[in-house]
Amino acid sequence: MADDAKNDPMPQAVPGPQKPRRRGTAGRKAASDEPELIGLELRPAGLNKVERQAFAKLMDAIAERRLLPGVRLVEEDLAGIFGVSRERIRRILLVLSQHDIVRLEPNRGAFVARPSYRECRDAFESRRLIERHVVQTLASLGPARRRKIVENLRLHIENETAAVRADDRAAEIRLSGEFHLKMAAYAGNQRLVRILQDLIAQMSLAIVAHTHSHDLDCSIAEHGSLLDAILAGDAEAADRLLVAHLEHMETALAHGLQDDGSLASVLAKEH
Ligand SMILES: [Zn+2]
Repeated sequence: MADDAKNDPMPQAVPGPQKPRRRGTAGRKAASDEPELIGLELRPAGLNKVERQAFAKLMDAIAERRLLPGVRLVEEDLAGIFGVSRERIRRILLVLSQHDIVRLEPNRGAFVARPSYRECRDAFESRRLIERHVVQTLASLGPARRRKIVENLRLHIENETAAVRADDRAAEIRLSGEFHLKMAAYAGNQRLVRILQDLIAQMSLAIVAHTHSHDLDCSIAEHGSLLDAILAGDAEAADRLLVAHLEHMETALAHGLQDDGSLASVLAKEH
């Protein structure tokens, strides 16, 4: 356990003795020392356990695009759904607004955020900076650790493939984001993981808000190639593949924006 605790990015989240866990839908595989991600959020600051559960459910619904941009989040309804007080709901909504996932409007209430083109572009740029660091860090680890991480992430890719085969769109979207979060978690900087969580959720909202396309998610084959480069300890190739992977998403989103006809897309052309 001492060794695991030293190597694992979130040792406190991994109970021992370690055995494969199953969570959620059938066929979902989890590796023994993979970082535990609750929805797309690990440990939102300032919330107690009950509030964290409600927070995680809301983040999941947004990440899976069940809750769409602009939807009003009525305190009373949420309090009823989660069985907690309105005061607690207000606190959760405040935290979500601090993550730019929810927009609070005086006298009107809370709404699922609708990121602008500008916010989306900034999110992509931030993501690129963080994730280039992440893959280079992973590729620079010792061979045994790299092998272990890649082995675990390949299990994650199996889950992604299973979701695609089962046509489980919500799982597919969530898992493609989680792949990136797990890489960041293995790289060991929890602050970066938390920033990345917000960025991925914001991009998910932007994609729904501004495009009609369904082809904007991660390519599973590209995830596989990234892992090959990390396993080989080739930081340069991992970096190149990561940049290309994000570029593919960004290009798809830019095309979606051009077809959108919205004010955001019209203004985007000036940038
Ligand atoms: Zn991806």
